Amino acid sequence: MSERRSFVADLDARQRAMLAEMGVRVWAPKASAAAEAACTGEPVQPAQPEPAPPRPLAQAAPVRVAPSTPAAAVPPREAAVVPAADPALRPQGIDQMDWEGLRQAVAGCQACPLHRGRTNTVFGTGDVSADWMVVGEAPGENEDLQGEPFVGAAGQLLDRMLQAVGRSRQGQGAQGVYIANVLKCRPPANRNPQPTEIAQCEPFLVRQVAMLRPRLILAMGRFAVQTLLGSTEPIGRLRGQVHRYQGVPVVVTYHPAYLLRNPIDKRKAWADLCLAMDTAEAG
Ligand code: SF4
Repeated sequence: MSERRSFVADLDARQRAMLAEMGVRVWAPKASAAAEAACTGEPVQPAQPEPAPPRPLAQAAPVRVAPSTPAAAVPPREAAVVPAADPALRPQGIDQMDWEGLRQAVAGCQACPLHRGRTNTVFGTGDVSADWMVVGEAPGENEDLQGEPFVGAAGQLLDRMLQAVGRSRQGQGAQGVYIANVLKCRPPANRNPQPTEIAQCEPFLVRQVAMLRPRLILAMGRFAVQTLLGSTEPIGRLRGQVHRYQGVPVVVTYHPAYLLRNPIDKRKAWADLCLAMDTAEAG
C-alpha cells in the first residue's frame, strides 16, 4: 500500500470532519475502504464551463511568466500574450538572491504602480524546506493589512484543505507548505492585476520556486493558474492534468474564496488534492 493510500486509510475523525466541511463524505461502514474511495473513487471531472472566479479577468489578459512544459497528455493550449516589462525598474540580481535578500527586495520594490497603495508587501509564508507550494493570485485587503497570504475565511478554508492532506503552513518538509502569490502587492480596490504588473513581479515568484524546488505546486484560482501556465483557458479545462512551471509539476484547483461561494465544487477540489498527492508521490 502506498504512503498516500495508507494516509487516506488512516484518516482520523478530525480529518473526516474537515472533508465533511469541504463537502466530501468519506465515511462508510468500512472506514478504510471508504477513505480510499475518497481519492481513488472520485473521477476527475471533464471540462466544464468555468464559473465566475473570485477575481474576474475580463480586463487583464493572463500572462506567460515562464516556460511551461506540458505533460504528454495535456492538449495544446491557447497561449497568453507576454507583455513588455522594464527590468530596470526592478531590484537587480533577483535570480541570485537568498531568501532574506529576496524578502528585502520585495519589501522595497517600486517596480510597478502597486507599491503606491500597499500597506504591506505579501512575500509569502511557510517553511522554505516544504515540498509543496501553493500559489495564489494577489493580496486582498486583509492580506495587505497583515502582510500574509490567504487570511480570513478563504485562508481558513485553505488551512482545512491542507490539514486534510496532512499539511499546514506551520509544518515542515513533507508536512509543510510554502504559500505565495503571483503579485506581492495589493491591486487597489481588488481590481484585476494588469499584465505589466504581473510581468514586473514575476521574477520574484520565479526565484521563490527556484529556491524551494518543491515537489509540487498547487495553483489556486483562475488568475494564478492562467499566469503560471501561460494559458487563457478556464480552470475547468485545465483541471485533472499535471502541468509544469519552472520544471515543477503543477496541479490546478479552485480558489478557496470561490469554493466558499460554490461549495458544490469542493468535491472537485478534493479530487484535485488527491491528484496533487499522487503527483507529489510519483515525483
Ligand atoms: Fe514590485 Fe511586485 Fe509590488 Fe509591483 S507588485 S511593486 S513588481 S513587489
